[in-house]
Amino acid sequence: MITWGATVTGVTPLPDGRHRVSLADGAHHDADLVIACDGIRSHARSLVTGEQPTYSGITFIHGDLRDPGPGSFVARNTGEGILHALGDNKAILAQRAADRSVRVYFALRTPEDPARTLGDRFADTAAVRAHLRETFAGWSPDLLSALDEIDTDFAYWPLYGLPAHQHWQPHTGITLLGDAAHVMPPFGGQGVNMALLDAVELVHTLFSPQCTTIDEAIVVFEQAMLDRMAGAILDADAGGEMLLSPAGTAPLLDHFAAAAAAEAGQ
Ligand SMILES: Cc1cc2nc3c(=O)[nH]c(=O)nc-3n(C[C@H](O)[C@H](O)[C@H](O)COP(=O)(O)OP(=O)(O)OC[C@H]3O[C@@H](n4cnc5c(N)ncnc54)[C@H](O)[C@@H]3O)c2cc1C
Repeated sequence: MITWGATVTGVTPLPDGRHRVSLADGAHHDADLVIACDGIRSHARSLVTGEQPTYSGITFIHGDLRDPGPGSFVARNTGEGILHALGDNKAILAQRAADRSVRVYFALRTPEDPARTLGDRFADTAAVRAHLRETFAGWSPDLLSALDEIDTDFAYWPLYGLPAHQHWQPHTGITLLGDAAHVMPPFGGQGVNMALLDAVELVHTLFSPQCTTIDEAIVVFEQAMLDRMAGAILDADAGGEMLLSPAGTAPLLDHFAAAAAAEAGQ
């Protein structure tokens, strides 16, 4: 049964190995297995591992073109996929969404802003536009025209990640998946896919004849997930280094050249 709109206020271990999941409306559920998929700010994570995500050094400020017309340079060049415009430790990245809108990210290497948290919205959009025009001074006016076309608020999105090689002792009756287990910067475009794969693999493991108890399934699932995620996190971190580099486009062009050479040599 899915209970929409329920806010979990606490997960507490019980003496019999189960966990009590408490909700904001005062209800609680005592569960044989808690699957914590509560994202980057997971509270349940601390019941499983001492690791906490750290700031990657990269922040996105993003806004959307909700219904871009044919004259929009950024929308046209984003096409059905993505646009990457790279400079000195900065980038303008855009991505087409299923509803035809285009999300534009202004990406910066910058210290974390302690006054802001993930997802904060900027009420003063004029000030954000002016700040970004100044930060991206000298960039193509065609690209910067997106600043005038964005017709939503801007959001502040610092990027965080967990280490590629994580180890924790499996815990009775609780496991993690998705960003709660392995958040990474989005440069591999793998976060949602990995979260969905976690869910599928957890179900398969729970119903596998090789696992006769929930705890056995947790051990098998978590080991496979952590092994798989090590490569994905390393790729995501490398993607960030490549796209936001003091050398601008050079690392990405080198990467394409190496890939083309490898393909030609096959
Ligand atoms: C800028 C950016 C771009 C990205 N682009 C891509 C991409 O192109 N492709 C891709 O695959 N991935 C991408 N990702 C990554 C992707 O968004 C995440 O990896 C994915 O959303 C993780 O899913 P999740 O279910 O683990 O966590 P989330 O999507 O964060 O979901 C967690 C849910 O738990 C809920 N929750 C948290 N605490 C509580 C509580 N106490 N009670 C009740 N509910 C709670 C939250 O409200 C939320 O709905 C991107 C990420 C960022 C930041």
